[in-house]
Amino acid sequence: MGTIQALRGTRDILPEEVGYWQRVEATAREILGRAAYREIRTPIFEATSLFERGIGEATDVVGKEMYSFFGRGENKQSITLRPEGTAGVVRSYIENKLHAQGGVQRLWYIGPMFRYERPQAGRQRQFHQIGTEVLGSADPRADAEAIALAVDILQSLGLRNLHLDINSVGNGEDRQRYRQALVEYLTPYKEELDADSQDRLDRNPLRILDSKDKRVREIALDAPKIIDYLGSESKSKFERVQKMLLDLGISYEINHRLVRGLDYYTDTAFEIQSDDLGAQATVCGGGRYDGLVKELGGPDTPAVGWAMGLERLILLLQKLSEKPAAALDFYLVSRGTDAESQALLLAQKLRSAGFSLELDLSGSAFGKQFKRADKSGALACLVLGDEEAANQTVQLKWLASGEQKAMTQADLLATTEELRRQMD
Ligand code: ATP
Ligand code: MG
Repeated sequence: MGTIQALRGTRDILPEEVGYWQRVEATAREILGRAAYREIRTPIFEATSLFERGIGEATDVVGKEMYSFFGRGENKQSITLRPEGTAGVVRSYIENKLHAQGGVQRLWYIGPMFRYERPQAGRQRQFHQIGTEVLGSADPRADAEAIALAVDILQSLGLRNLHLDINSVGNGEDRQRYRQALVEYLTPYKEELDADSQDRLDRNPLRILDSKDKRVREIALDAPKIIDYLGSESKSKFERVQKMLLDLGISYEINHRLVRGLDYYTDTAFEIQSDDLGAQATVCGGGRYDGLVKELGGPDTPAVGWAMGLERLILLLQKLSEKPAAALDFYLVSRGTDAESQALLLAQKLRSAGFSLELDLSGSAFGKQFKRADKSGALACLVLGDEEAANQTVQLKWLASGEQKAMTQADLLATTEELRRQMD
């Protein structure tokens, strides 16, 4: 019988790698916390209809990437593993009447998302996102603030070679007029479009603009630009967002092909791409979605948000820097019955005093335990043998200098402040 392996498109995040994940999470938590964003945790699965309505049936995500199944129990309702975070957050915002708290709700989330896609570097079937949603502000400053925070997070992680692309997709009416013009432009080329794009011509023609097909891209170059179809309000909002980005010192380019995959976006759309990722270059995508809360049955509420793909961020961090070192204060080696039981006690007391300590449980010869101590990355090694156990003492050895001294266990515990200073 073969061994069971992780499913295609899923991965284990092993302890060696998890430091990167923790760093990304800590950075986002800090930066978003400072901007008064509050974390929200919503379920991993939701009613399928939430995503059908919230993302739109004409999108790839709903059309072919969702993991849906029938629930158990009486009504056997269709359930979907969330493919993205916004729909669930908005459902929760409505269901829990967060709008009744008044003012602007600034929310963020982190967690796994699921899409049935062809796995490749930076594209998985279970992947992770950090995302933000600001609900209740139509002010273009909210758009600029959201973008600035995404840029802050990426820069604080030390990432370089990033580009911000922005565009405006206007309001529903603007888009309707644009859609018509685009279809008129593309229809004569229909036979030259790839199968996917031909299919989109009726269902979701804006998506053709971000096709990866070479010929389609050439054709798209001369397509009408949505910016020329914006009403005066959307145009002025777009100009204000740009002015604020300039004031904030955030450089950007206008990308006329940036229309985003999801239907509920209005006005600002943006993407942050990296030069160092190959085909899966987009690390962050977002924009304004003033239509969604109402579409899902809530009060008419403007909103803006973004989502970052963590796998892609981690790939970039791994290229950039050495592993974040695991910090360990003590490695405790012991041998002999009494020594081993004293060691466990001493370990717990030092941990209570705030030190990190790894207790060697192998019972093997001292030489082997010392080798592991050296490899552990600990600052100091503690040694307890028969003699130390008999006298209630312990050997303290600083691993960098090799300096070693014997002391009573009581003295060691009494001088924790001094030890802490030596370790800092
Ligand atoms: P792409 O064009 O790469 O498929 P998308 O438009 O489908 O991206 P969004 O729905 O905007 O992506 O999701 C935001 C971010 O989440 C993306 O920019 C990317 O970093 C990440 N992401 C999306 N799908 C995946 C996936 N299957 N695996 C890993 N990361 C993903
Ligand atoms: Mg996608």
